[in-house]
Amino acid sequence: MTTTKPPNVLSADRAGVAEAARVLAGGGTVAVPTETVYGLAARADSTEAVAAIYRAKGRPDFNPLIVHVPDLAAAETLAVFNVRARALAAAFWPGALTMVLPRREAASLASAVSAGLPSVALRVPAHPVMQALLRATGLPLAAPSANRSGGVSPTSAAHVSGSLGRRVDLILDGGSTEQGLESTIVVLRPDGGWAILRPGPITEDALRAVLGPPGQSDTGKSAQIEAPGQLASHYAPGKPVRLGALAAEPGEFLIGFGAVAGVVSLSEAGDLAEAAARLYACLHLAADGIEPRIAVAPVPHEGIGAAINDRLGRAAT
Ligand code: AMP
Ligand code: MG
Repeated sequence: MTTTKPPNVLSADRAGVAEAARVLAGGGTVAVPTETVYGLAARADSTEAVAAIYRAKGRPDFNPLIVHVPDLAAAETLAVFNVRARALAAAFWPGALTMVLPRREAASLASAVSAGLPSVALRVPAHPVMQALLRATGLPLAAPSANRSGGVSPTSAAHVSGSLGRRVDLILDGGSTEQGLESTIVVLRPDGGWAILRPGPITEDALRAVLGPPGQSDTGKSAQIEAPGQLASHYAPGKPVRLGALAAEPGEFLIGFGAVAGVVSLSEAGDLAEAAARLYACLHLAADGIEPRIAVAPVPHEGIGAAINDRLGRAAT
């Protein structure tokens, strides 16, 4: 192979992680592989560092960021946990679950990180590179997806380079991400109710098994207010997208699934976990194709299919 890496890309090995920790401590931005997608990390306790994330992404500043910490003990220094929050942490951390919790007044977090809200979104990621970075820096790291705001999320270092290029100080290349969809975001309400603010790899059924039914307060309207920045149009490949397609029409790049064959397939076997992992890579390929339009085969709504259809719906809007 003769492909040369751009100058701001390093392998996510021991030396790469050490350099990334140095850049982060100095207030810089680093794109990091996680088990969901590549994140654009910066120290969450610094207003300037957080501003650098918003700037690199071109992200509206009313859209708060998820803060990543190495473990539950670190999370408890930033937010108030009740019994149910601890039960979720025990069941799903480290992993692809983000909890929106009341932020501690004494938390060392820049207020821009939660867009001035009294709450904070926290996650303990499982990926060894992100874990190593959290432990090497000893800092909470804000990390939204490492792409220009509104675009398709990155599941490889090449996707990050293509979208952000030199707007990011350093990119750690740790290969393709495993799950491929952003974390599930859940909010626990004081009345015992809960709601999914963003569907993701941790399914509603898995949350119900720990929390019981969501309760009365789960209305679309309150979820909208609680999750600012869950914009109707997002993950946009820059071309019209037609969903539920059984065959390609002229000028369409078809993304297949199961029995519907396409130029590429989310999963020829019809496996939803594989489809989630491949979704953004397929959208990137379709965006780069010569066809002016994109079509996507139907994806069943069960399990992680709910999260896949959520992202496809926003890509098509
Ligand atoms: P990401 O782009 O993956 O960093 O996801 C961030 C999303 O998490 C935002 O668009 C919000 O919808 C949600 N979020 C982050 N912080 C909060 C918060 N304090 N309250 C409610 N939702 C939040
Ligand atoms: Mg994003």
